[in-house]
Amino acid sequence: MADDHGDRIAQFIARMTTALGPKGVSTDPVEIEPHIQDWRGRWKGSTPLLVKPASTEEVSAAMTLCAEYGLAVNPQGGNSGMVNGSVPEGEVLISLKRMNKVREVDVLNDAMTLEAGVILTKAQEIADQHERLFPLSLGAQGVAMVGGLISTNAGGVGVLRYGMMRDLVLGIEAVLPDGRVWNGLRGLRKDNTGYDLKHLFIGAEGTLGVVTAATLKLFPKPAVKETAWATVASPQKAVELLQLAKKASGGAVTSFEIVPKLGLELVLKHIPDTRDPLPTALPWRVLIELSLPRIDGAREIMEGMLGEALESEIIADVAICESEAQKAMCWKIRENIAVAEKAHGKALKHDVSVPVSRVAEFIERGTALAHQMQPGADVIAFGHVGDGNIHFNITPPAGADQDRFVEQDGLPMSKAVHDLIASLNGSISAEHGIGRLKRDELAWRKSAVEMDMMRAVKRALDPDGRMNPGRVL
Ligand SMILES: Cc1cc2nc3c(=O)[nH]c(=O)nc-3n(C[C@H](O)[C@H](O)[C@H](O)COP(=O)(O)OP(=O)(O)OC[C@H]3O[C@@H](n4cnc5c(N)ncnc54)[C@H](O)[C@@H]3O)c2cc1C
Repeated sequence: MADDHGDRIAQFIARMTTALGPKGVSTDPVEIEPHIQDWRGRWKGSTPLLVKPASTEEVSAAMTLCAEYGLAVNPQGGNSGMVNGSVPEGEVLISLKRMNKVREVDVLNDAMTLEAGVILTKAQEIADQHERLFPLSLGAQGVAMVGGLISTNAGGVGVLRYGMMRDLVLGIEAVLPDGRVWNGLRGLRKDNTGYDLKHLFIGAEGTLGVVTAATLKLFPKPAVKETAWATVASPQKAVELLQLAKKASGGAVTSFEIVPKLGLELVLKHIPDTRDPLPTALPWRVLIELSLPRIDGAREIMEGMLGEALESEIIADVAICESEAQKAMCWKIRENIAVAEKAHGKALKHDVSVPVSRVAEFIERGTALAHQMQPGADVIAFGHVGDGNIHFNITPPAGADQDRFVEQDGLPMSKAVHDLIASLNGSISAEHGIGRLKRDELAWRKSAVEMDMMRAVKRALDPDGRMNPGRVL
């Protein structure tokens, strides 16, 4: 029996090699290694074959063969996902990294069509070369790819102004589990011709098919970005500053991020060439970015707003960035909190959202809860106050067994944090998704009706359950 299985897999690999050519497949353990573990080193999996198609036709051929052999499939982009979705657990691994062509930039339509393997920084560069902005921006932008960003409905630091990935997608091309290609690459802003199927694939985490290309929205490039780093006494003050900034700038706030003292300290310790823009003993900092259409008067808007914030004691102190280097330093600190935290050790991570009006209440109650349940634990709560998404991470007390804390002892605390989130009408996954990590919890947190609808969609598109089994549902 075991030999029959081995023979079948060998035959499958041989046929895949014929279909895609030697460049399109790999069984080399060295090449496969980085694809079968996550970036944090928390999960390690396996795959019988790494498939590397270079075109939609090749993805279709690969998927058709997988269907014929009844094999499960795990699509992978940059493998920067946070919820154990992109690491294969014995499935055939389809990496989209060779599908990295620019299909079209339609400047007049403010749209570009890119293949799924284009890395986010490259997408931003392409937009920039055409005097446009592609506004998605996040810490993993040097590795995350269009297909992965779509499949996780990625968020990041520009959501406040431009929305999530879902808001940036005009059309999608996808290969279905049976190998059929759906070309939904429409560059339309208005299209009411029945169900808008692209939205099924956005945020589906690879459970419905393989995204092979997308038509993405472009925006005017702001003439100037004004950036400031302010110190505040509490998250409540940060939310007050957000309201003031929105009002004073006429809605020009593009990023509004909160940085806790401990998060900053970890960055300064673990990330080379970083320095504190505004040393203070206060517990919180806020990074604010305004994007404005004219250079004239831009600084005055920022200064006026911050002057009012100082006067009304919303902020304690502030530094307005005078140079691109200063802006880059502020962003380097913000973007490296997760990386520094990784260097610090393991943490219980919660990617949660609440209405902006309840962010301060959540951080305060969540922190008290964590300290009460696990004396000595530290909370690192940081991120996107501007859209209500906080990364609420809890590090174990000094000397504790980190693995045990993350896998076992800390779990009641995670449940309590998520219960708090539920009581505040929030979400247990704001931007990272569900993957394997939160699959079981999703099933009991959502209503039976919602789970039924999700399972019905899954059955309709993937009746054999071969796309990313064990993730999301
Ligand atoms: C340092 C750091 C900072 C981060 N910051 C943010 C942040 O601010 N906001 C945010 O939203 N996320 C953030 N992330 C998480 C991660 O970068 C995003 O989830 C990103 O969208 C994943 O893209 P990827 O190409 O790496 O996808 P992968 O990790 O490869 O895959 C993610 C999921 O999508 C599926 N998938 C991948 N490609 C395809 C495809 N072509 N078709 C179908 N399914 C596919 C996979 O099977 C998996 O389930 C961060 C990660 C790191 C490491």
